[in-house]
Amino acid sequence: MATIFEKIIAGELPATILHRDERVVAFTDIHPVAPTHILIVPRKVIETVDDIADEDEALLGHMIIVARDLARQQGIAKDGYRLIFNCRTHGGQEVYHLHLHLIGGRVLGRMVHRD
Ligand code: 5GP
Repeated sequence: MATIFEKIIAGELPATILHRDERVVAFTDIHPVAPTHILIVPRKVIETVDDIADEDEALLGHMIIVARDLARQQGIAKDGYRLIFNCRTHGGQEVYHLHLHLIGGRVLGRMVHRD
């Protein structure tokens, strides 16, 4: 069954698209946790980080380059930002279509809260 992200990529669900090319689509997160919260999503269906194949190495690099460029376009590159991949249950992954979160525009604090 197609995930929400596949439907956005196919144009079947609306989203604020900030970048699209032959390999990835990037759009704003529907529930942003910071002033800038963008998802960089490969067109190729890869469910989780654990499902990335060796042959996807260039695709993953491309996702980070797109994130870098979007951060510059959004004006958050100088102050800095965070890139996150959540993987499966312990990682807090909700949508099982690989995506890179680009989050910034405010001080984000600790990476993971200590219990
Ligand atoms: P995950 O927890 O899987 O790493 O992140 C999934 C992200 O997708 C969440 O931050 C969530 O807010 C976002 N999201 C879920 N459904 C939609 C949607 O329909 N549209 C958009 N733009 N983002 C969504």
